[in-house]
Amino acid sequence: MDTIGLINFAYVISAVFFVYGIKMLGTADTARRGNRISGIGMLIAVVVTLLDRGMLSYTWIIVGLCVGGFVGGLAAKKVEMTSMPELVALFNGFGGLSSLLVAWAEFEKARGLGWSSYSESMGVSWVFSGGVIYVAMLIGAVTFTGSLYAYGKLSGKVPGAAWIFSGQRAINLLVVVAIVSLGVFFGLSENEDTSNVLFLAGIALSLIFGFMAVMPIGGGDMPVVISLLNSFSGLAASAAGFVIGNNVLIVAGCLVGASGLILTVIMCKAMNRSLSNVLFSGFGSTGQSEGGGDDAEPKAIGVDDAFYVLEAARSVVFVPGYGMAVAQAQHVVKELAELLESNGAEVNFAIHPVAGRMPGHMNVLLAEADVPYEQLQEMEAVNPAMSTVDVAIVIGANDVVNPAALSDESSPIYGMPIIEAHVAKSVFVLKRGQGRGFSGLVNKLFVMENTRMIYGDAKATLSQLVNELKGS
Ligand code: NDP
Repeated sequence: MDTIGLINFAYVISAVFFVYGIKMLGTADTARRGNRISGIGMLIAVVVTLLDRGMLSYTWIIVGLCVGGFVGGLAAKKVEMTSMPELVALFNGFGGLSSLLVAWAEFEKARGLGWSSYSESMGVSWVFSGGVIYVAMLIGAVTFTGSLYAYGKLSGKVPGAAWIFSGQRAINLLVVVAIVSLGVFFGLSENEDTSNVLFLAGIALSLIFGFMAVMPIGGGDMPVVISLLNSFSGLAASAAGFVIGNNVLIVAGCLVGASGLILTVIMCKAMNRSLSNVLFSGFGSTGQSEGGGDDAEPKAIGVDDAFYVLEAARSVVFVPGYGMAVAQAQHVVKELAELLESNGAEVNFAIHPVAGRMPGHMNVLLAEADVPYEQLQEMEAVNPAMSTVDVAIVIGANDVVNPAALSDESSPIYGMPIIEAHVAKSVFVLKRGQGRGFSGLVNKLFVMENTRMIYGDAKATLSQLVNELKGS
């Protein structure tokens, strides 16, 4: 086998490692091992690529490794669990930017050689390789600015609400038509200088389109956007793989693209929305119904009184949300769950797919606190029995328990499946004050007859309940 054959064989091995690794991520028991196996696959791919001397400059690789490793390591170390989606959005963006730069560099190489020599060296026509370069640039640029904007929205650096203006869709359509037309002329152009102008115009419009595509999406739809952008960053990498003729980049990019798309579809289903509705309906724009209506006041209860109710409860369901992550209350929740169990109650955790700020956020936090996996119940499993539950304890969750999603047709979240905590016999809501959820909507759960608010930081409140139960 020649060197190229060996390199491609190693790439196939690393692709097999990626696929097995991803499969193992499907269950909590094998997820860590899956992560490690995928990591080994990536190591093989990187080492083999580095050995392929004809392709690379070691100096630039070492510089890139040092700078990228330092910045990435620092960011990953410093980031709070609650800010993880922002980091993911930022990383997606950089993935897109690198695809854009790879495509640009390849275009400059082709321009330097001239179309015919370049096509000869690649063994394909310029229309094909120019087209691939343009597509890699386009996906990379859209992913870059789209992800940066999503990062800004998530981190609160720019307003998170959907930004809608009249004629927006028509303008977006015009920009798309312009980008595609530039691409067609670019592929057909014989003149290198004209191609340069077309390519630069294509970059500028694609960068603008990334912003414009995310602009009308807001509120609770950000998880879907992140997942979709993640899928795009995979496609961008794959397109870059085609440009530089690197098979493992094509395969790994396709895997990221496909898994991101599958996650996007799963999340849309979890919200009972179609992808086009998420992308174009302007959910979360200002001026939409807030789901309010009456002036009922939430009723508060003290920890002492809540303790008596809990002591008598035979079944308790915890509904964690973003506030549990903010309060870092996962360990003390586990302690309370154990005390309630030893007091004879059946305890479960109801997990909503978009609770928190990233897919699987609650699962990760509760797994970190060693909450038994069997106690984590998905929405479909827990809802049918909710009316028989003595106490549902909502810990910093808001949107994912908002009954407006079931009953208020004018609500922007109407149709989104929720954890039906409101049908439990008693509901305790742990939150600090009158703060709204991610979507900014009023929550009628808080004013229902069976609901009592326990105000304060969730960790502090739960610690007080633990102390009461320990002392009883
Ligand atoms: P929400 O964002 O709806 O509500 C969180 C609640 O936590 C707030 O009402 C806040 O009220 C309370 N809170 C904040 N800090 C504390 C604290 N220290 N102690 C107690 N309570 C606290 O959370 P949900 O989990 O219900 O919903 C998630 C939302 O985020 C959904 O709209 C989802 O679409 C969106 N989203 C989800 C992503 C994902 O992938 N999971 C990614 C991005 C967005 P107060 O200020 O009064 O304390």
